[in-house]
Amino acid sequence: MDLSYTPEEEEFRARLREWLARTLPALPPRPSPDDWPGRRAYDLGWQRRLYEAGYAGVHWDATPSVRLIFLEETEKAGAPYVGANFVGLLHAGPTIAAEGTDAQRARWLPPILRGEEVWCQGFSEPEAGSDLAALRTRAWRDGDDYVVSGSKIWTSHAEVADWCELLVRTGPAAPKHRGITWLALPMDAPGITVRPLRTLAGPAEFAEVFLDEVRVPVANRVGDENDGWRVTMVTLSFERGTAFAGEVVACRRVLAELAVEARKNGRWDDPALRRRLGRLNAEFRALWRLTQWNVSAAEASGGVPGAGGSVFKLRYSHARQDLYDAAAEVLGPDCLDLDRPWTPDRLSSLAYTIAAGTSQVQHSIIAERILGLPKGR
Ligand SMILES: Cc1cc2nc3c(=O)[nH]c(=O)nc-3n(C[C@H](O)[C@H](O)[C@H](O)COP(=O)(O)OP(=O)(O)OC[C@H]3O[C@@H](n4cnc5c(N)ncnc54)[C@H](O)[C@@H]3O)c2cc1C
Repeated sequence: MDLSYTPEEEEFRARLREWLARTLPALPPRPSPDDWPGRRAYDLGWQRRLYEAGYAGVHWDATPSVRLIFLEETEKAGAPYVGANFVGLLHAGPTIAAEGTDAQRARWLPPILRGEEVWCQGFSEPEAGSDLAALRTRAWRDGDDYVVSGSKIWTSHAEVADWCELLVRTGPAAPKHRGITWLALPMDAPGITVRPLRTLAGPAEFAEVFLDEVRVPVANRVGDENDGWRVTMVTLSFERGTAFAGEVVACRRVLAELAVEARKNGRWDDPALRRRLGRLNAEFRALWRLTQWNVSAAEASGGVPGAGGSVFKLRYSHARQDLYDAAAEVLGPDCLDLDRPWTPDRLSSLAYTIAAGTSQVQHSIIAERILGLPKGR
């Protein structure tokens, strides 16, 4: 696989760099983490700027190399990350692009790209996380609508979302993987209650969502009725395979900042710490290569990353935790100060080996679907 860039791609890089250098200084500061409406407006505003400058579709349409250059340059320049646009841009949108009808693509994709609508993900339930196919939120047909009742948990950005990629059980008598349907739920429909959950890191990152006889048009179904598990595999392969790619560059930036801080505060004199930072440097370089491979492999297989994303997700989530543990070592007792830049990130890094599927589950997927080992259970 050739991972080098062509002159045209390097030209794209130069143009993007120049645009970022011109645009970023004029941006207002990002609202505080607990100002959800402010963060929504800010994240959508950034997406709008990308749209107007012609960069909004880079996550979806561009060649793998152009997509990677975009991620690399925006992160290196310290541009805002996708934020509240995470689900829409990085996995609901790509799922609709791959599995939706023309009418669904026309309805949902442009507002995501133009920075007009935020999506969230309603997959997990109180007793259906790792065993996602055990979900119990029911949906039954009533004319041109599904009527949905049940509850979801850990729904990131639910408070500010316009739409939710929702999994429901439409075939209660079918084997559990075969009775699931993927729906686009409008978050302003009557019967939805969103209750924020606070976390160790502070502000409410996610919420419980209660659904009480919520009507969802049948036209909002992506894929066939009871074929939602197959569509879900597409969503999860985007979520695990490519959605975190930009964050690898961000981690490399943090690592460089840690080396600077260690030199300043004298911790650099400790050879064990230097070795630790060096190992992390090698790990994140390898992860960036894996990102390149995943994005290119997805392209080669029709745009969907597949089970290989689990390898990336597993390694990345542990490397991220190691990075912030090293940050605590560099900071010493200051690592308890929530105003230090790395402290909230360290607290939230703990969740990375759980969100988007736990490490144990990624191990099983790699064993069964990539290595072809027999099923453990
Ligand atoms: C920060 C964060 C954001 C999230 N955002 C969203 C979101 O926006 N939308 C959404 O739908 N969900 C979201 N989630 C939920 C996430 O997907 C689930 O927490 C995750 O899938 C684990 O499920 P669970 O919490 O029910 O744990 P459980 O499934 O109860 O697992 C508990 C423990 O048992 C282990 N275990 C379970 N089954 C097996 C098995 N078969 N083999 C080996 N070990 C096993 C697990 O690895 C884990 O250690 C988020 C979670 C976090 C932490």
